[in-house]
Amino acid sequence: MDATNSDILILGGGVVGLSCALYLLKAGASVRVLEQGTPGCGSSHGNCGTITPSHAPPLAMPGMIGVALRSMLTAEAPLYLNPRFDGPRLRWLLGFARHCNWGDFQRATMARSAILSRSRLLLGELVRDDKLDCEFTEEGVLYVYRSSKKRAADEHHHAAMLDRLGIEVQRLHGDDVEAMEPALKPGVVGGLFHPGDARLRPDRYVAELARRVRELGGVIETGARIENFTTDNGRISQVHSSRGAFLADRVVLALGAWSPLLGKTLGLRLPMQPGKGYSLTYSRPARAPKHALVLREAAVCVTTWDSGYRLGSTMEFSGYAEGLNRTRIDALRRGAANGLHEPEGPQLLEEWWGWRPMSVDEVPIIGPSTRWSNLLLATAHGMLGVSMSTATGELIASMLGGPASPVDATPFAPARFGL
Ligand SMILES: Cc1cc2nc3c(=O)[nH]c(=O)nc-3n(C[C@H](O)[C@H](O)[C@H](O)COP(=O)(O)OP(=O)(O)OC[C@H]3O[C@@H](n4cnc5c(N)ncnc54)[C@H](O)[C@@H]3O)c2cc1C
Repeated sequence: MDATNSDILILGGGVVGLSCALYLLKAGASVRVLEQGTPGCGSSHGNCGTITPSHAPPLAMPGMIGVALRSMLTAEAPLYLNPRFDGPRLRWLLGFARHCNWGDFQRATMARSAILSRSRLLLGELVRDDKLDCEFTEEGVLYVYRSSKKRAADEHHHAAMLDRLGIEVQRLHGDDVEAMEPALKPGVVGGLFHPGDARLRPDRYVAELARRVRELGGVIETGARIENFTTDNGRISQVHSSRGAFLADRVVLALGAWSPLLGKTLGLRLPMQPGKGYSLTYSRPARAPKHALVLREAAVCVTTWDSGYRLGSTMEFSGYAEGLNRTRIDALRRGAANGLHEPEGPQLLEEWWGWRPMSVDEVPIIGPSTRWSNLLLATAHGMLGVSMSTATGELIASMLGGPASPVDATPFAPARFGL
C-alpha cells in the first residue's frame, strides 16, 4: 500500500468504522481509516457499553411524539427536545413523527433484532478469538421499576414484543429484584431481566479494535480531519483531509453523528440528528450493582466493570451544541440517587457527553449509496452502535467481497432515503 492509496478508505474511526475495518481486513482487503481525533474519541468513548439484543423495539411508537413535545417544557426530562428549532431539526422531528405508528414499529423492531442478535453472537466470538481485553461480561441487563404504571407499560409493549421475537425476558417481582441486587434502595415494584444481554468497557473495546486493525495491516490516520471530496463520473476519486488527499477504490462513510455534515458536501441529505447523551465515570463504589441496570423511571443506565463504574442517560435534541449541560448532569445524578444506596463512586474520573447518530426511523443506514458508485454508508446506529457494530462490519465486508452475512441487508439500504 503506498502512502495515500488503499483498496478501501473508511471515514471515521469510531466503533462502527473500526469494526468495518477489522472485518474487511479479515476478508483480505487493504484498509485505511481517516479519523479527525484518535480512534474511538466520538460517541464510542463514554457510552454505557451495554450489548442489548433486548433493545430491538425502537423509541418511535404511537404516543412518543406527545412525550417528546411535553419534554420541551422540562429541561430535566430524560428525552428532551430543545424548543429552539432550526430547519434540519424540525425536518428530523417530522420524519420521526411519521415513523411513530405500529407498522413501522414492527418493521424497525424486526430489522434491529436481526442485526442485534447477529452482532451479539459475533461479539462473543471476536472477543474470544481475537483476545480483546475489554471487560466483556455475559451476565444480562436488568430493568428496575419503582412505578407499577411504567412496569405495566413496558410489559405490554417491550416484553411482549421480545416474547414474539424469541428473546428471553424474565418478569421479576420487586422482592426478587432487591434480592438479586442489594445495591438497590427498597421500593422496587418489579423488574425485567434480559439474560442474553452483555456489557463491556467501550473505551477499551475501541482501543482493542484499533490494535487488531493495525496488527492485521490496516492503517489508522489520526488527526486527519476530512474536509471535502473530489468526484468524477459518479465516483468519489479523492478524499481531502487536514493530512492531505487520499485515493481509494471504495469509500465507507462511518462518521456517526457527523455523517450528515460531510454527506451534505456529497449532495446526500441524511435524515439524522445528534441525540446528545451524558455519562459520569467513577472508581467503583463498594456497593456497586452486579448486573448492568436500567433504572426505568429516570432512564438511567448503570454499568459496573472491574475497573470502574458509569452512570449514563438522557437523549437531548439540541442540534450540534457541544459541551456539558449541568441541569442534565444533575438530573442524571438525582435519578441514580433515587434508586441506589451508593449511586456514585468514591472518585469522579470523567464527565462526558456524546452524540448518538439518530436516524428518523431508528434503523441504521448500511449499504451502497445509490448516488455515488464507490461509496457505502455505515451510520445512524443511534442508541445501539456498540451493540450493532460487529454485524455492521460483517455486512459491509460482505458487500465488498467478503463472506456472506446471514443478516438481510434490505431494511438498512440507503436507497430507502434516496441516498
Ligand atoms: C450516553 C450514551 C450512552 C450510550 N450507551 C450505549 C450502550 O450502552 N450500548 C450501545 O450499543 N450504544 C450506546 N450508545 C450509542 C453508541 O455510543 C453510538 O451508537 C456509537 O458509538 C456510534 O458509533 P460510530 O462509530 O457510528 O460513531 P462515533 O463513535 O461518534 O465515531 C464517528 C467518528 O467520526 C469522526 N469524525 C467526525 N467527523 C470527522 C471528520 N470530518 N473527519 C474525520 N473524522 C471525523 C469522529 O471523531 C468519531 O471518532 C450510547 C451513546 C451515548 C451518548
